[in-house]
Amino acid sequence: MSKKQFQAESKRILELMINSIYTHREIFLRELISNASDAIDKIYYLALTDENLNFDRENYFIKITVDQAARTLTVSDTGIGMTQEELEANLGIIAKSGTLSFKEATEMQEGFDIIGQFGVGFYSAFMVADKVTVISRALGSIEANKWESEGADGYTIEHWHRDNVGTDIILHIKPSTEEEDYDDYLNQYRLQSIIKKYSDFIRYPIKMDISRRRLKEGSENEYEEYVEEQVVNSMVPIWRKNKNELQPDDYEKFYAEKHYGFDEPIKYIHLSVSGAVSYNAILFIPERIPFDFYSKDYEKGLELYANGVLIMSKCPDLLPDYFSFVKGLVDSEDLSLNISREMLQHDRQLKLIAKNINTKIKNELQNLLQNDREKYEQFFKAFGRQLKYGVYDNYGRDKDVLQDLLLFYSSREKKLVTLEEYVARMPAEQKYIYYAAGESNERLEKMPQTEIVADKGYEILFLTEDVDEFAIKILMKYQDKEFRSVSSGDLGIEPGESAAEADEKHKALFVAMKEMLGDKVKEVRASQRLKQHPVCLTNEGELSIEMEKILKAMPDGKNFKADKILEINVDHEVFQSLTQAFNEDRDKLKIYSHLLYNQALLIEGLPIDDPVEFSNNICSLMK
Ligand code: ADP
Repeated sequence: MSKKQFQAESKRILELMINSIYTHREIFLRELISNASDAIDKIYYLALTDENLNFDRENYFIKITVDQAARTLTVSDTGIGMTQEELEANLGIIAKSGTLSFKEATEMQEGFDIIGQFGVGFYSAFMVADKVTVISRALGSIEANKWESEGADGYTIEHWHRDNVGTDIILHIKPSTEEEDYDDYLNQYRLQSIIKKYSDFIRYPIKMDISRRRLKEGSENEYEEYVEEQVVNSMVPIWRKNKNELQPDDYEKFYAEKHYGFDEPIKYIHLSVSGAVSYNAILFIPERIPFDFYSKDYEKGLELYANGVLIMSKCPDLLPDYFSFVKGLVDSEDLSLNISREMLQHDRQLKLIAKNINTKIKNELQNLLQNDREKYEQFFKAFGRQLKYGVYDNYGRDKDVLQDLLLFYSSREKKLVTLEEYVARMPAEQKYIYYAAGESNERLEKMPQTEIVADKGYEILFLTEDVDEFAIKILMKYQDKEFRSVSSGDLGIEPGESAAEADEKHKALFVAMKEMLGDKVKEVRASQRLKQHPVCLTNEGELSIEMEKILKAMPDGKNFKADKILEINVDHEVFQSLTQAFNEDRDKLKIYSHLLYNQALLIEGLPIDDPVEFSNNICSLMK
């Protein structure tokens, strides 16, 4: 029988696992019991939906057996089992491929908390065992197989016998060392308490043979050992329990057991609803972004149970895209077990549940925003982008649901603010909600276009994420106040007489400059908004300069172009040189016009059209 090699990535993880100095080794048992429970879920579901299979709840259980002499701990289940191919595929290759390479790039180092970072399920057995044997018989097979491995150097598979369908995971427990008392994992009391701690809510009985002593019959001082089978867990699933019987800790443990995330959830929501549709649900808002969240691999969804039977492990119809970060489950007695994936999508009950849940999540986030701002901001930093996509998606269909959950950085408050807070502070004469879009707050602080608005004492929202301005454009208004970019042509601020006059007075100069710049700009005009800076670009029309930048970075965005206006500060010293050149030397005016235009591009963070020409122009002036 030849030894087979683990896939390279799995081998790496195994090595890390075996050598990790992990403090919570005991969680291996939670992982194995959770796998066993999943396997029973699968067979249980089949038994309920397939008439040819017999169903008797009694037959479904998990059993923990200790053999002190052999130093083995066995986790057996009556679940669906694995065929030879499945043993190879599931245990020879780590499920979440790609995870390691991602981690490797970012943070994999010595002593790295591998278990804390992503679930390694079955592999955690190697934290306590130096050899793991799996005997499994799949539903529908007569034969069983034995899979065995002593760690990273490979595994063997051979045909075996097992009386019934199901799986035994046999751990050959490591000898105790000074650092770690592995004997603990052979101690029935210790095992009982680990099961109670992590797996109490497993819905199938976890049985264990407990050895006890009793007085021998007819004797007054002679004891005898006897073995009694006991169910260790309470078996009531957490979502069916009464909320006031549960502690935050129970929800956190459940979150970890279910592998919803490897962080601590920021918030949990426990719902018990009866009415038009009855259901129990537990929902979690994670603290950290799952590593694949903003990739196309990420699948949203909640676990869906029909009266306690798992019918789908990720039901996407229960969550709108903008809440795709929510984890958890729904259990409803109003759903039919036999419902197909296609029918489910159109199921009235399910739609009702989804609608309810959606409102609940929204309200809970609103509560968090009102009552625990710090936590909300932490949430928003992780998932705010998703909410903003939600505003923008479907042409703004959901903007009313989401607009009050948004936060933007305020130029004046120097922190994140809601739109409601902004509007409440607006002075009576302020016409618009002002915003500036750019790369970073630091850059926006220095943006010339903000000068006049800031000078008026008005607050400006700084938009620094690519989705921001698109979301704002879809919102259009908040409480009847229109949004207005500080770069837009009309700021709704009374123009100083001088600006309008100056524009008239120097019309000929501006027309000449516009001609020299060609279609780079739509117009050159006197600025009403500049104080310190000589020039800036503003824009007219729907597409802003910032949006042009974002669209241009996309594969087919080359043709997007904002209508740009070059604004000139007529009070700036530089303006003297312009008028002089206009009157005396038109070639010079051309150079000046291009220089100022390029300067304005640079301030915007846009690339200049022709860097060589730009640099030649500067040189020609210095000569
Ligand atoms: P995960 O449970 O997160 O998928 P694991 O490494 O724990 O990752 O398990 C890998 C796969 O092996 C499981 O998805 C399941 O298909 C299979 N498996 C593990 N344990 C059992 C079991 N006791 N019975 C049947 N299949 C199992």
